[in-house]
Amino acid sequence: MVKDQKFYDILGVSPDATEAQLKSAYKKGALKHHPDKNAHNPDAAEKFKDLSHAYEVLSDPEKRQIYDQYGEEGLEQGGGGGGMAAEDLFAQFFGGGGGPFGGMFGGGAREQGPKKARTISHVHKVSLEDIYRGKVSKLALQKSVICPKCDGRGGKEGAVKKCAGCDGRGMKHMMRQMGPMIQRFQTVCPDCQGEGEIIRDRDRCKQCNGKKTIIERKVLHVHVDRGVKSGHRIEFRGEGDQLPGVEPGDVVFEIEQKPHPRFQRKDDDLFYHAEVDLLTALAGGKIHIEHLDERWLTVDIIPGECITPGEVKVIRGQGMPSYRHHDYGNLYIQFDVKFPERLGGEDGAPMTEEQIKALESVLPPRTAAATAPPTDAMVEDFTLETVDAAREGGRARGMAGGMDDDDDEMHPGAERVQCASQ
Ligand SMILES: [Zn+2]
Ligand SMILES: [Zn+2]
Repeated sequence: MVKDQKFYDILGVSPDATEAQLKSAYKKGALKHHPDKNAHNPDAAEKFKDLSHAYEVLSDPEKRQIYDQYGEEGLEQGGGGGGMAAEDLFAQFFGGGGGPFGGMFGGGAREQGPKKARTISHVHKVSLEDIYRGKVSKLALQKSVICPKCDGRGGKEGAVKKCAGCDGRGMKHMMRQMGPMIQRFQTVCPDCQGEGEIIRDRDRCKQCNGKKTIIERKVLHVHVDRGVKSGHRIEFRGEGDQLPGVEPGDVVFEIEQKPHPRFQRKDDDLFYHAEVDLLTALAGGKIHIEHLDERWLTVDIIPGECITPGEVKVIRGQGMPSYRHHDYGNLYIQFDVKFPERLGGEDGAPMTEEQIKALESVLPPRTAAATAPPTDAMVEDFTLETVDAAREGGRARGMAGGMDDDDDEMHPGAERVQCASQ
């Protein structure tokens, strides 16, 4: 019998599950609920953390035994640094460099060796302008440092005594009758609450209250290099938490590009929507684009080049700077052509003969003649009416919806950018 079944339930296994069953249950769950695959689902992030914590405990035979016997409470008394961050466990489980989602854990796996304080991770959101120009962000973080007053001892020199109950190990072997069997198991030392040390109250360090560390504010200078991409990680080795007896942890900033009101980015290329009137599209003119570095680009549309609705043109070299290279991506412009409501005289007067002649003089001839019915066909005459959206409703919309779906193809990166903003 186990005291509490919660961790088993989280992993969806029974309390007598084998190590292999636990492992496969965690693997399945972690891949499904990983925050990178569930960007707009905070529940998944919670679930991912719970899964990782449950697996961390149950995959360790010692911890599993404590949990089975005493439930979660027994573990909390264990001290032991509060467990591993969910991401670290995940990276360790799936191995670093690459990982299941294509390299986002580059260097994330913990190397073997001396114990290390956990990594402080932070997502640094940056505007497209700042990525275009590059900048240095000063970011402050709270971290624990070894108490300078007691040098991390927790009290006056010589006042900190090794706990006699557990010989300083913090854990104790105990025996317990389990039906016909006597079970030997390890538990948190009740004399020192797992600290392994005892300090008399009056000898306790006043600055850290015997905790050996204090919280300090530290400002780090994070270089946002020109052309850096979302997901890029900037590491500060050893700048994280300091804890007695372990190596200081690292701080990792992950760059996240904020969505931009004018441009969408795909790798080093920028995408821009320009609306032009029909006269400009046909007879030429200029459009003006505000770039990311306070420049305005004036773009000539050549008379007679005929920009068609949805057409994409390119200005080479006006995209993003490429990261650690000296070249630039392209700026792609997709045109929306704004047609006039109607042509003709004022007050709804029809087009005059002269106006029609003027158009006929520059536009290609009508093609209707080519599709005319055979001379012996029965012919009826019709004129077109304007669609009344209220009356026609979905009947007319169905067709319109099918006709303007080229938007999505234009912006392969658009969906990703929008997701990131939520
Ligand atoms: Zn102190
Ligand atoms: Zn003890």
